[in-house]
Amino acid sequence: MCIFCKLINKEIPSNIILEDDEFLAFHDINPKAPVHILVIPKVHIDSFNEANSSLMGKMSDFIQEVAKEVKIEKSGYRVITNIGENGGQEVKHLHFHVLGGAKLSWSHFTDADPQGHF
Ligand code: 5GP
Ligand code: ZN
Repeated sequence: MCIFCKLINKEIPSNIILEDDEFLAFHDINPKAPVHILVIPKVHIDSFNEANSSLMGKMSDFIQEVAKEVKIEKSGYRVITNIGENGGQEVKHLHFHVLGGAKLSWSHFTDADPQGHF
Protein backbone atom coordinates (compact mmCIF):
# COMPACT_ATOMS: atom_id res chain seq x y z
CA MET A 1 0.00 0.00 0.00
CA CYS A 2 1.36 3.46 -0.85
CA ILE A 3 2.23 6.02 1.81
CA PHE A 4 -0.77 8.27 1.05
CA CYS A 5 -3.17 5.29 1.15
CA LYS A 6 -1.74 4.53 4.62
CA LEU A 7 -2.36 8.13 5.56
CA ILE A 8 -5.99 7.87 4.33
CA ASN A 9 -6.42 4.71 6.44
CA LYS A 10 -4.93 6.60 9.45
CA GLU A 11 -2.14 4.02 9.65
CA ILE A 12 0.22 7.02 9.42
CA PRO A 13 -0.67 10.21 11.32
CA SER A 14 -1.17 13.47 9.47
CA ASN A 15 -2.28 16.98 10.22
CA ILE A 16 -5.70 16.99 8.51
CA ILE A 17 -7.34 20.22 7.39
CA LEU A 18 -10.43 18.98 5.57
CA GLU A 19 -11.88 15.61 4.70
CA ASP A 20 -14.96 14.26 2.96
CA ASP A 21 -15.95 10.90 1.50
CA GLU A 22 -13.70 11.29 -1.53
CA PHE A 23 -10.83 13.65 -0.66
CA LEU A 24 -8.37 14.47 2.10
CA ALA A 25 -6.35 17.67 2.69
CA PHE A 26 -3.41 17.72 5.11
CA HIS A 27 -0.27 19.73 5.79
CA ASP A 28 2.85 18.74 3.84
CA ILE A 29 5.46 17.29 6.20
CA ASN A 30 8.21 19.36 4.51
CA PRO A 31 6.56 22.72 3.69
CA LYS A 32 7.94 24.84 0.85
CA ALA A 33 5.76 27.88 1.68
CA PRO A 34 4.07 29.24 4.84
CA VAL A 35 0.95 27.33 3.72
CA HIS A 36 1.70 24.01 1.99
CA ILE A 37 -1.20 21.59 1.84
CA LEU A 38 -1.56 18.33 -0.04
CA VAL A 39 -4.95 17.37 -1.46
CA ILE A 40 -5.49 13.74 -2.45
CA PRO A 41 -8.34 11.55 -3.66
CA LYS A 42 -9.15 8.65 -1.32
CA VAL A 43 -9.07 6.22 -4.24
CA HIS A 44 -5.56 5.34 -5.31
CA ILE A 45 -4.74 6.96 -8.65
CA ASP A 46 -1.07 6.99 -9.70
CA SER A 47 -0.96 10.52 -11.13
CA PHE A 48 -2.79 13.22 -13.06
CA ASN A 49 -2.27 11.07 -16.16
CA GLU A 50 -4.93 8.68 -14.85
CA ALA A 51 -7.38 11.33 -13.53
CA ASN A 52 -10.69 11.81 -15.37
CA SER A 53 -12.95 14.84 -15.74
CA SER A 54 -15.40 13.67 -13.09
CA LEU A 55 -12.66 13.36 -10.47
CA MET A 56 -11.01 16.64 -11.50
CA GLY A 57 -14.30 18.53 -11.29
CA LYS A 58 -14.88 17.37 -7.72
CA MET A 59 -11.22 17.92 -6.88
CA SER A 60 -11.51 21.58 -8.00
CA ASP A 61 -14.46 22.17 -5.67
CA PHE A 62 -12.63 20.53 -2.79
CA ILE A 63 -9.41 22.54 -3.35
CA GLN A 64 -11.47 25.75 -3.36
CA GLU A 65 -13.00 24.72 -0.03
CA VAL A 66 -9.54 24.05 1.39
CA ALA A 67 -8.31 27.49 0.29
CA LYS A 68 -11.26 29.07 2.09
CA GLU A 69 -10.71 26.93 5.18
CA VAL A 70 -7.12 28.22 5.59
CA LYS A 71 -8.10 31.72 4.42
CA ILE A 72 -5.80 32.08 1.41
CA GLU A 73 -8.53 32.34 -1.23
CA LYS A 74 -8.29 36.14 -1.40
CA SER A 75 -4.53 36.62 -0.94
CA GLY A 76 -3.89 34.01 -3.61
CA TYR A 77 -2.20 30.66 -3.88
CA ARG A 78 -0.75 28.14 -6.32
CA VAL A 79 -1.95 24.63 -7.20
CA ILE A 80 0.61 22.20 -8.58
CA THR A 81 0.60 18.53 -9.41
CA ASN A 82 3.89 16.86 -10.28
CA ILE A 83 3.70 14.07 -12.86
CA GLY A 84 6.31 11.39 -13.39
CA GLU A 85 10.07 11.63 -13.61
CA ASN A 86 10.52 15.07 -15.19
CA GLY A 87 7.65 16.46 -13.13
CA GLY A 88 9.51 15.47 -9.96
CA GLN A 89 6.75 13.24 -8.61
CA GLU A 90 8.02 11.34 -5.57
CA VAL A 91 4.80 9.88 -4.18
CA LYS A 92 2.93 7.84 -6.80
CA HIS A 93 -0.55 8.72 -5.53
CA LEU A 94 -2.19 11.71 -7.23
CA HIS A 95 -1.78 14.81 -5.09
CA PHE A 96 -2.19 18.54 -5.54
CA HIS A 97 0.14 20.90 -3.73
CA VAL A 98 -1.71 24.01 -2.51
CA LEU A 99 0.87 26.69 -1.71
CA GLY A 100 0.33 30.16 -0.30
CA GLY A 101 0.65 32.42 2.70
CA ALA A 102 3.31 34.56 1.00
CA LYS A 103 4.19 35.88 -2.46
CA LEU A 104 5.52 32.89 -4.36
CA SER A 105 8.42 33.16 -6.81
CA TRP A 106 8.01 32.16 -10.45
CA SER A 107 11.52 32.09 -11.74
CA HIS A 108 13.46 28.88 -11.79
CA PHE A 109 12.08 25.47 -12.71
CA THR A 110 15.03 23.87 -14.49
CA ASP A 111 18.63 24.45 -15.49
CA ALA A 112 17.73 23.32 -19.03
CA ASP A 113 17.30 26.06 -21.63
CA PRO A 114 13.60 27.05 -21.46
CA GLN A 115 13.70 28.02 -25.16
CA GLY A 116 15.44 24.86 -26.30
CA HIS A 117 12.70 22.25 -26.49
CA PHE A 118 10.40 23.21 -29.33
P1 5GP B 1 5.82 15.12 -4.92
O1 5GP B 1 7.30 15.40 -4.94
O2 5GP B 1 5.54 13.66 -5.10
O3 5GP B 1 5.02 16.01 -5.81
O4 5GP B 1 5.36 15.52 -3.46
C1 5GP B 1 5.30 14.64 -2.39
C2 5GP B 1 5.11 15.49 -1.15
O5 5GP B 1 4.68 14.65 -0.10
C3 5GP B 1 6.39 16.19 -0.68
O6 5GP B 1 6.17 17.60 -0.65
C4 5GP B 1 6.62 15.61 0.72
O7 5GP B 1 7.13 16.56 1.64
C5 5GP B 1 5.25 15.09 1.10
N1 5GP B 1 5.25 13.94 1.98
C6 5GP B 1 5.92 12.77 1.80
N2 5GP B 1 5.65 11.91 2.79
C7 5GP B 1 4.77 12.54 3.62
C8 5GP B 1 4.12 12.14 4.83
O8 5GP B 1 4.28 11.04 5.35
N3 5GP B 1 3.27 13.04 5.40
C9 5GP B 1 3.06 14.27 4.86
N4 5GP B 1 2.22 15.08 5.51
N5 5GP B 1 3.65 14.68 3.72
C10 5GP B 1 4.50 13.82 3.11
ZN1 ZN C 1 -2.19 5.34 -2.69
